[in-house]
Amino acid sequence: MTKEEFISELAKLNIKATEQNLKDLDRYKDLLIEYNKKFNLTAIKTEEEIYLKHFYDSLTLTQAVDLNQNLKLLDIGTGAGFPGLVLKIFYPDLEIILLDSNHKKIMFLETVIKELNLKKTTCINLRAENLSKEYREYFDIATSRAVSALPVLCELSIPYLKVDGLFIAMKGDSEEEIKKSSKILEQLDSKIIDVKRFNLPIESSNRSLVVIKKLKKTKEKYPRSYDKIVKSK
Ligand code: SAM
Repeated sequence: MTKEEFISELAKLNIKATEQNLKDLDRYKDLLIEYNKKFNLTAIKTEEEIYLKHFYDSLTLTQAVDLNQNLKLLDIGTGAGFPGLVLKIFYPDLEIILLDSNHKKIMFLETVIKELNLKKTTCINLRAENLSKEYREYFDIATSRAVSALPVLCELSIPYLKVDGLFIAMKGDSEEEIKKSSKILEQLDSKIIDVKRFNLPIESSNRSLVVIKKLKKTKEKYPRSYDKIVKSK
């Protein structure tokens, strides 16, 4: 996706990219290409692929929720910042926590945040199931792309949401994972309220945003240890 295609596809999502947004993304892309050579942060390496599969794809989250508000957002397994850091660039009022268990990726994110002078953006180098209790029932929105199967992600994210908060899983095809999530969603007092399906422009691969609402406070025993979570699914 060229930069011109990026701008026109965003307009179709009702997103107007400002000069500052585009400047920030360009710098982010340059840093990603540079650091990727040393640290192998992402398999997506060319400028056109970065604009389509990282930047544009991250911004499709806006099709499930209005981010023009003072929201607290958690990105679980953010990697090199997708979708969380791209969303922060476009929606500066968001308070964002970028969580990843990989130290190299967190160091890269710290560099980008400093370089772009982004406020209210915190990186945490931990596994989601070990996130501090201070963040229980804290976030309005949690999201995650390309990290784990939906039943596992539900348990890693929902305990950290406020009641009425949303977990929005960014998936390719999601039918099978949705079927396998019904039991854990019941245990976590949450339900799927919407599934938005669409294709990525240009290469047409399938995407879905699975939107899950938390209905009640989460029982203290969740999230369990990762071994237990995976064994029970
Ligand atoms: N979300 C990014 C994207 O879409 O480009 C990164 C995806 S990458 C395939 C998966 C990332 O999830 C890795 O950076 C890994 O370190 C992180 N990860 C996996 N399990 C995790 C967990 N339980 N808690 C925090 N991070 C995790």
